[in-house]
Amino acid sequence: MDLLEQHTRDERRTEAEARLDELADAGVVAVALPWVDTSGITRVKTVPLAKLPSAAAWGVGMSPVFDGFLLDDSIIAGRFAGSATGDLRLHPDLSRLTVLAGQPGWAWAPVDRYTQAGTPHVQCSRSLLRRLVASLAEEGLTVRGAFEIEWVVARPDGTPDDADAFAPALTGPAYGMTRLAEVSDYARDLLDALEAQGVDVDQFHPEYAGGQLEVSVAAEDPVAAADTALLVRNTITAVSSQHGLRVSFSPKVTADGVGNGGHVHLSLWRDGQNLMAGGEGPLGLTRDGEGFVAGLLDHLPALLAVGAPAVASYLRLVPSHWAGAFAAWGLENREAAIRFVTGPEGNRQSAANVEVKCVDLAANPYLLMAACLAVGAAGVRAGSRLPDPVAVDPASLSDDERRDAGIRPLPATLSEAAEAFDADEVLAAAFGEELHATVVDVRRGEVALLEEQTAEQVCRTTRWKH
Ligand code: GLU
Ligand code: MG
Repeated sequence: MDLLEQHTRDERRTEAEARLDELADAGVVAVALPWVDTSGITRVKTVPLAKLPSAAAWGVGMSPVFDGFLLDDSIIAGRFAGSATGDLRLHPDLSRLTVLAGQPGWAWAPVDRYTQAGTPHVQCSRSLLRRLVASLAEEGLTVRGAFEIEWVVARPDGTPDDADAFAPALTGPAYGMTRLAEVSDYARDLLDALEAQGVDVDQFHPEYAGGQLEVSVAAEDPVAAADTALLVRNTITAVSSQHGLRVSFSPKVTADGVGNGGHVHLSLWRDGQNLMAGGEGPLGLTRDGEGFVAGLLDHLPALLAVGAPAVASYLRLVPSHWAGAFAAWGLENREAAIRFVTGPEGNRQSAANVEVKCVDLAANPYLLMAACLAVGAAGVRAGSRLPDPVAVDPASLSDDERRDAGIRPLPATLSEAAEAFDADEVLAAAFGEELHATVVDVRRGEVALLEEQTAEQVCRTTRWKH
């Protein structure tokens, strides 16, 4: 994590060299080196296979200007981002090097961004997450997490009069067996590709909205979970393209209807024990487990600036759409921003977790996971306590009833979330001055970019970006 010493560079080169034959045998010609920018767009550089050892040792050059990119590729003049000068090095994490089953000839390895001096770039979201995982480990705590991925499949050419319009490629009903039959070959190829890439898929199903599907995967270490989120999405895009389909992960594909969520599942562990089960706190939480969930709940408005980072996110985040538009928690409550999941009796020690529902796939998964760890850990350290769990849709309560139950509506706009994030001292300390400022600057930039647009225009601008 610290300075990349010469011996580390040498070890990385040797490790990459040792993989070359196996990769060549698998038909690999080139390696994609992706990272996610502050806005939430995955950017990439690639190297031919023969250059992997040198990329492993020295990284691949990349401008830091991408910290200041917006979703339409315009660039802000941020306090610490957006300058055209300077250079960073993209260092592939070889432990995650994967042959891409959906893109023959390609391998993939997520990167950490370093300075030319060999120190982690202060605005590298993956390095931030690694640091936070290490700092929890110093307190004996481990987090396990997973991202659920929802997406829609569309006809590649839109509608006859509008190539960028959304025309769902499926017609069957929500959770419908007929919809599954329509995507049978596509889904088989997708599951096959994910398995070949070592992704531990838990479930696949047709979702609610037009053309919508979902994959969920097993919980992992937080960095691995964010890497997996990237890999799964990349695989969905690649396999969809092979099947002549266009995909959207946008929080709100059309202005009406239900959006795409990117729910995050989290559990907290110490000494092999799941702190979300078997405790004295509410619904079986241990006191530390309760502190972690309370930390999440207390900081949700600020957390949205990284978890629901697009203007379109707030078109999705409305009551009674299963998006979790209220700061509340509840047992299996799909209208609470934090849904507590215990799993079946007998399996709770391994299954209990919280699902943060108010977040979507415009999020940079490293930044979102980092924010969850930071605020959760703050709740543990402060011994924070939870209000009573909520068992109904908060939208069905009156304002007074919600106030009495301590239920707050979440920010209704990206601008409000950005201001909450700006004022959040826990997240400011965890992210560091530069990255904290850049998140705020990029969010304000996207607000300014889209403020004149109608909801339908915002959906259109955002639809095919993530
Ligand atoms: N599509 C919903 C969302 O926007 C979530 C549906 C579900 O609960 O899985 O988050
Ligand atoms: Mg779902």
